[in-house]
Order: sequence, then structure tokens, then C-alpha cells
Amino acid sequence: MDVKSVRDAFPILHQEVNGHPLVYLDSSATSQKPVQVIEKLDEYYRGYNSNVHRGVHTLGTKATDEYEGAREKVRQFINAQSTQEVIFTRGTTTAINTIASSYGRANLKPGDEIVITPMEHHSNIIPWQQVAKETGATLKYMPLQPNGTISLQDAEETITDQTKIVSIMHVSNVLGTINPVKELAAIAHKHEAVMVVDGAQSAPHMRIDVKDLDCDFYAFSGHKMCGPTGIGVLYGKRQLLNDMEPAEFGGEMIDFVNLYDSTWKELPWKFEGGTPIIGGAIGLGAAIDFLNDIGLEEIEKHEHELVDYAVEKMNQIDGLTIYGPEERAGLVTFNISDVHPHDVATVLDAEGIAVRAGHHCAQPLMRWLDVTATARASFYLYNTKEDIDRLVEGLQTTKEYFGDVF
Ligand code: PMP
Repeated sequence: MDVKSVRDAFPILHQEVNGHPLVYLDSSATSQKPVQVIEKLDEYYRGYNSNVHRGVHTLGTKATDEYEGAREKVRQFINAQSTQEVIFTRGTTTAINTIASSYGRANLKPGDEIVITPMEHHSNIIPWQQVAKETGATLKYMPLQPNGTISLQDAEETITDQTKIVSIMHVSNVLGTINPVKELAAIAHKHEAVMVVDGAQSAPHMRIDVKDLDCDFYAFSGHKMCGPTGIGVLYGKRQLLNDMEPAEFGGEMIDFVNLYDSTWKELPWKFEGGTPIIGGAIGLGAAIDFLNDIGLEEIEKHEHELVDYAVEKMNQIDGLTIYGPEERAGLVTFNISDVHPHDVATVLDAEGIAVRAGHHCAQPLMRWLDVTATARASFYLYNTKEDIDRLVEGLQTTKEYFGDVF
């Protein structure tokens, strides 16, 4: 992979922040956007902005073709069987809420169990807390190993015949843990439970094959994979989606509307009430083309090299603690001695280096780690070893700045 030419596609990276060339290490929060995506959005809004599925006019037809074309790109990207299984949502959060409120409400009763883990993002905790309260089902946590991984033996013990839903993140946005979701799906299925995968941190960084994983639902966000904000995907197996009620009602998702009753369109549109996220979906299609041109395997390999390099360098800094297992995705979550991570991020920002600090929408995991917050550097296809050298220099500056706590 030619990182130089990859970087050339991202205009935002070529600027100074606080008098230093920008080093962007916050792609787990949101990725930057290449010109291919920016231009595609520009083209849509300048050239054929129109509502979809309704107009017979030329612009409407073009917008519909592009919107549905993007759905086909997503289908191929995750190897779904059919475009009926690809629902456009606002993001991972909306996708998981749709599963919880539609599948969850219809299929859970007192005594049933929903299994998640303490490493989940709030978006994969709170929808299940809410549906558990509404239905009387029990929310059950699978334990974590001390290094922040899941053991299949624990999974075998936690998932039982009472389990109806298992919902687990593919890659942790804090620990970088890559969870064995294929094996977990097999265990869930042995007990006739459905497997939901939060793919927010995996779809942008590795080749996803929902057929191979054999998960029942898979959720991800466009903005973390070079696409625009406000667009995401809910994948679901056709039979399950067919049997589910829509989560939102209104225009676009109906077939016949009578005074007191209505019928729904077929999949996937019955889940896309209201004017869809047309520009977002078209932009996501362009992001998928961009990622495919480079190759997900190449991207994964590049990030692997970066994270190995980062861990090696950061481990040489006295007083720096890295959280998570050795085998990790492309991010490093850390603390330096007793310096508050917000202070770390502030000093780094003054050096033009953007990292995330806080609880990372994973408060239960922060308590499991026994910290209130951490800093996180996350990498993507446009990052370089020089970026990591700058981070390490910035961390040395942080140490000098807060010298008295060492
Ligand atoms: N799950 C994980 C693992 C995440 O990292 C995120 C985003 N930080 C989400 C879910 C939520 O994604 P979104 O905010 O795009 O809905």
C-alpha cells in the first residue's frame, strides 16, 4: 500500500494545527474522508439531488439508481445474500436500537436472557437494558479474561437455553480486542439464540463476510469507514427481518394506508421510514469503492504494522500503561502515570496531535479496568510510522510538562 498516495486523497490531513502538521489519531471516533467521497456528495447535491423511489423525473431516477446502487455495494462489501438484507440506518446506534426494539420486544419474555459483555460500547448496552426492562427479560454479562478477551469456555457457560439474544462487539473501541464472533455465533445457535454483532470497529478495518460469520445481525457506521456521518447499516438475515415489525412508521415504508390500518413495503424498505439518507448512502457507496480499490487486506496489514510499532515504542515510556491484549486491532488505549487523560490529550493537541480522551462510551469497561478515563490513539489507512514517532515525542513532552507526578 502506498501510504503517500493514500494520504494525498485526504485534504484535511494536509494542514497545520497549533503550528504543527496535523497528526490525526482519532479514527476510531470518526475517520477522515477522501476526495472521492467528498466529490461524490458534491456531485449528488449539485447534479441530481432528488427524493428517491417516488419521482418519475430524470433526477429522481438517477438518485434512486445511485441510492440502490450503494445498497448493492454494501451487500458485496459484507457478502450478504441479498440487498433485502441491507437496511440503511443513521449508524450503528440506530441499527442496534432497531434490533432491540423490533426483534427484542417481539421475542423476549420474563425468564429469557440477553447476553452481552462488560466491554461493550454504550450503544450495545443501553438498548438491551431498556428492552430488558420492558419485557422482563434478564440482561446477563459474560465475564472477561484479565487481559480483556472473551474465553469460549466462559461463553459456553454463560449462553444457555434461556438465552435468546447474544450481542457482542467484533472489535473493542477501547481494548482493541478482536472477539471470536464466528465461534460465539455457533454457540448462540446451539441454544437457538440470535447473534448480533456490533461491527462499528471491524467493518472499516477488515474484510467482513456475514455469511462466513453466520451472525444474524451485523451493525456498522459509515463515518468510521471514510463515509459521511449520518449513514450506517443494519444487516439482518432475510427470514428474521421478514418476521420483524418496522421500528419506525410513516412515509416510504408503506404499501397501503387505510384509515385504521396499513401494510408495509417489502424488505428492505419497510425499515426505512421517511425520506432516506440519500446523500449519506451515496457517499458510503463511494467510500466502499475507495476502500475496495486499496483492499481491506492491505489496510488491515498496514494497521497491524502501525499498532505493533506503536506498542513497542510506547512500552519504552516509563509510567505508561497500555490496556488490552497483545493481539489487538489498530488502536492503543493508555494512561501515563497519574496524569489525567484530558491533560495528556491537551498537551498533545498543542503539538498538533489529535487523540481521544475520556470514557470512550464504555463506562462499565472503565470500571472493569478500574480507571475513570483513558487516552486512546487509533490508526487508519492514512497513518504512518512518522505519526507514531510524533505521538511518542508528544508523550515525552507530556511527561516533561507534568514532571512532578513521575
Ligand atoms: N459500537 C462501537 C464499538 C463504537 O466504537 C461506536 C462508535 N464509537 C458505536 C458502537 C456507535 O457508533 P455510532 O455513534 O456511529 O452510532
